[in-house]
Order: sequence, then structure tokens, then C-alpha cells
Amino acid sequence: MVNDEKIFFSSNQSALFAQTDIEFVITSRQGGFSQSPYDSLNLAYHTGDEKAHVTANRNAICQAFFPDKTLLWIDQIHSDIILDVASSKWRNDGFIGQGDALVCDQKDIACMVMVADCNPVLVYEPKIRTFALIHAGRCGVQKRILSKTIKHILKHPQAKAQNMLIFIGPSIRKCCYEIGKDLAATFPEKYLANNNLDLIKMLQDELSSQQIKPHQIEISPVCSCCQNNLFSYRREGITGRFGLIGALR
Ligand SMILES: [Zn+2]
Repeated sequence: MVNDEKIFFSSNQSALFAQTDIEFVITSRQGGFSQSPYDSLNLAYHTGDEKAHVTANRNAICQAFFPDKTLLWIDQIHSDIILDVASSKWRNDGFIGQGDALVCDQKDIACMVMVADCNPVLVYEPKIRTFALIHAGRCGVQKRILSKTIKHILKHPQAKAQNMLIFIGPSIRKCCYEIGKDLAATFPEKYLANNNLDLIKMLQDELSSQQIKPHQIEISPVCSCCQNNLFSYRREGITGRFGLIGALR
């Protein structure tokens, strides 16, 4: 899995997740069918790319890494809406609805969130074999979608925060995420350096507030805006989306 150009990072490379019952991949820009400016492994239909290319890209990833699983995806709207596979229906193409978190406890399903600078986050509760994928950009972080998703999983009587494992994938980091003065004024000073916003620090504080300890958390060191093998909205404007795709083993 690790040596495929389509994969930027996978759970096999993760100190925290390699031995668990969940596997995930962060896709790269390479090995897909899309043409510039979506070249080439764009996984999102909503970017203006040709639909047939996106479908071919998704199929290539699924066949290579998640054969025998149905890929579910959401129409991401920068909300705090959580969709649970256990109580949802989906279309034949895997579309399950509008929202920004997808909770899954079913072995025959793979879930995907798509990003180009927003935070792709995975939450896993191994005791109840339930995971969530979250799309958390600035709006989603401000709406505390990560905490809300953790609380959703904790509704299960056997679930515990102390069991949970968290992965935060590549996203725009404080090196590149300059925001306007008026917007910056709406954030606590501790999350800002000049006018650069540190969403990772906000997510870490959220996790801490949910009793999740640093040893339960893995954060990719990669800034999507600095890394040319990932799509970046800030760097390129019109561009594709890379994916965080996860499934139970
Ligand atoms: Zn950067």
C-alpha cells in the first residue's frame, strides 16, 4: 500500500494506527485521470472537474485499497451535521447526504471526506469498533464539529473517551493560513501569530476538553499549502480535493 503513488500516507505508516482494526489512506495528487487544474487524482465532484474523471479516480482507489467495500461520501457544507451510517440510507453511488462528519460501525463500508486545506480528521473507538471521518475547516472547527462527533460516539454505552484514537491529516497550517484582520479579531489571541490562524492548536484544545490525551492523538506534520503533492485551495484556487478514506479491517 505504501509504495503506490496514489497514496500520500496510510495507517500502515502510523505509529498509533498500524496495529489497530481500522485502516485509512490519505490520497495524493498522482496516478489519477483528471486534467489540469485538477491533475490528477481529484476525488470531488463539486470542484468543476469532469464527473467521469472523478468517478474513475474514486474507482481506482477503491479497487486498489478497499475492494469489497462500498464507498460512502457526503456533500460537505462546513456545518456541524453528523451522519451515522447505522441510521442512514445512501444512493447507489455512495452519496449519503449533506454534512461534515460520517460515523460508521459497519465492516463492508468505506467512508471518505475530501479536503484541500481543511482538516481531515479520523476518530476511532476500538472497543466498539466505530469510527468517524470529519471535514473540519475553519467554520467546522468554530462549530466544534470534532467535539460533537466525539460526543455522538460516546452515546454508545460501552464507548469511552480514553479508548479513542485520533488522526489529523495534512491541512493548511499556521505557516500559510493568513486571515484578514477582521476575521482574526474573532479568534482568541492564543490561536494567532500575527494574522496567521492555528487550527491545529484549536483542535488540540478541543480534544483536551473531551478528556483525550496527547498519546491518543497523531497529527500529520504536513501543511497542504506547502506540499505540492496535495491539493491546496489557498495555493491554487481552482483545484481538486484529496481524500481521507477509512474502513474497518
Ligand atoms: Zn504551509
